[in-house]
Amino acid sequence: MSPTTETDVIICGTGAAGLTLALDLARRNIAFLLIDKAPHPFVGSRGKGIQPRSQEVFEDLGVIDRIVASGGEYPVQRIYTADGPIDQVGVEMSEPTPEEPYQIPLLVPQFLTERRLRERLAELGHAPHYGHELVGFDQDGDGVTARIATPDGEQAVRARYLIGADGGSSFVRKTLGIGFPGKTLGVRAIVADVYVDGVSTDAWHRWGEDTAGQVSMCPLYGTDMFQLQAPVPFDVDLDLSAEGLTAFFRERTGRDDVVIRSVSWASAFQMNARLADSYRQGRVFLTGDAAHCHPPTGGQGLNTSVQDAYNLGWKLAAVLDGAPESLLESYEQERRPIAEAVLGLSEKLLEAAKNRDIHRGREVSQLDLGYLNSPLSLHSSARDKGVLAGDRAPDSPVTGAGGLPTRLFSLFQGPHWTLLGHDVEEASAPEPRPGLHIHTIGTRGDILDSGDRVQGAYGLSAEQWVLVRPDGYVAAVVDTAELPAVEAYLDTVGVRPLAATRPTTTEASTDMPTETSSESTGTPRTRREHRQARTAAEQRLATAQRELHQLSRQVQRDLRSVRRHGETTAIVARSNFAELAVKSINRLTANFRTERTDQ
Ligand SMILES: Cc1cc2nc3c(=O)[nH]c(=O)nc-3n(C[C@H](O)[C@H](O)[C@H](O)COP(=O)(O)OP(=O)(O)OC[C@H]3O[C@@H](n4cnc5c(N)ncnc54)[C@H](O)[C@@H]3O)c2cc1C
Repeated sequence: MSPTTETDVIICGTGAAGLTLALDLARRNIAFLLIDKAPHPFVGSRGKGIQPRSQEVFEDLGVIDRIVASGGEYPVQRIYTADGPIDQVGVEMSEPTPEEPYQIPLLVPQFLTERRLRERLAELGHAPHYGHELVGFDQDGDGVTARIATPDGEQAVRARYLIGADGGSSFVRKTLGIGFPGKTLGVRAIVADVYVDGVSTDAWHRWGEDTAGQVSMCPLYGTDMFQLQAPVPFDVDLDLSAEGLTAFFRERTGRDDVVIRSVSWASAFQMNARLADSYRQGRVFLTGDAAHCHPPTGGQGLNTSVQDAYNLGWKLAAVLDGAPESLLESYEQERRPIAEAVLGLSEKLLEAAKNRDIHRGREVSQLDLGYLNSPLSLHSSARDKGVLAGDRAPDSPVTGAGGLPTRLFSLFQGPHWTLLGHDVEEASAPEPRPGLHIHTIGTRGDILDSGDRVQGAYGLSAEQWVLVRPDGYVAAVVDTAELPAVEAYLDTVGVRPLAATRPTTTEASTDMPTETSSESTGTPRTRREHRQARTAAEQRLATAQRELHQLSRQVQRDLRSVRRHGETTAIVARSNFAELAVKSINRLTANFRTERTDQ
């Protein structure tokens, strides 16, 4: 970093939230700086449950298979009782369905999940800066100036937005003075990643379940370690060394055939349930544990954090690309109620666990969470069946018109919006827009609904359209006659018609004002005509300047992308357009001056 680096977004924190946000921004070519005060990546297994909805997010981000391969499925819970061990299924598993392809929670140590996210980030040309601590920031109407302590001294970085993904003790939240009300839950626990002799890897072993002397060992698939967990009293000193934990384990279980050989990471922590009063102050946002913290029961913390970041990523990118700032208000409106519900669930499961109930059902999968009451959900009063605006968009197998099988999730994958027309006339489709993929499903379309699965999953009739957001939630379900409302909606979320965004060189010559446009149709003669001509020219100049500003930002981003990925065609086209735009602006300004002189 140079002393006055500029970027679009500073992400403070490289946990699951910060990395997910970084990935989402990277694939959208948004410039960002990802920092962490820690000298190296986090090494603990703590958030080890990846819920089905997060697996869908990871599929979209292009990392799901690597994450699945890094861990495994939850084993049975083996409960040691006075009458011997009893195996019990802890996590209720349903078979995957075409609509919900991920049903089984994964067990992946958090440090492996984060490693996979960093690897994907590297593929997109980015790396976190470790040993970089955010030590202060100020914001104004245009951006945020952050002070970052680095191994080379303190540096100032200017960005349009700052994101506090800096965990439960968030420096960003505290600096903003945002309240973090809630409660400590009166539970202190040990969690440690240990190498052990004497325990099999086919089960999550639990001793002393109905006593204060509980202790468990869960195999950490993808590694040779186990995660040791145990509630502990508040008022004791703990020895978290291998010898100390072996003695602790023997005291609780009476087993002297189990030996902890070494400890990779260990922590003693108090459980809290807290929710930030606000997720945003001006140009600074909170995400992940910085905004909410949960007890680990039900494995919700990491998952909620990943999905916060996934919700924020596309909105930030859209606003940086010219969408109205108000789009960012929906982040807190959508995500804070979710965190509130998840907090309630984690606390309920913690209470159940205290009463020996360790069973988990669909409620932890996060597949049923949605944004029905969001301002971004465009409801149609006539709709009373099937998916609604705000629901998670189901997957479904389909067949491309070319004959190859594919899935709706494959059509959704990427940073774009998707508009699906079901049994519609192709001619009724809206005009194409950058950032919107339009597919028509049916015998007359580019996609065939093999087995009517889409129709069933979405509850669609003929002549209906579904608009799906970049984060896989339904934005609207409308009839063909209501498509103008969808087009108006798209304008408000930054998916603008081609002419308003990035005209090609040819189109630019018709879109940009030229010497043969309106002025040349007649020289203004009267005072009124002069005034009208001047007002029109002023408006065109302001529009052109705005577009040129946006374009120059896009070109800067493209240049960075070209350096990384070599997308030469796109940059050449945009550079050509930029040149043309500059010429047009100069010509327009010259005309404007001439008009003023004429007067
Ligand atoms: C002991 C324990 C057990 C858990 N078990 C589970 C579980 O079983 N299932 C589950 O889903 N969740 C679990 N969680 C929660 C889960 O780990 C968190 O929800 C998840 O890590 C949140 O991710 P995050 O990115 O928001 O924050 P974090 O992972 O906490 O990352 C925050 C990052 O910000 C960095 N940072 C902080 N301040 C600054 C600063 N000023 N400048 C730069 N960097 C900074 C930190 O170094 C850190 O790397 C557990 C948590 C703990 C503590």
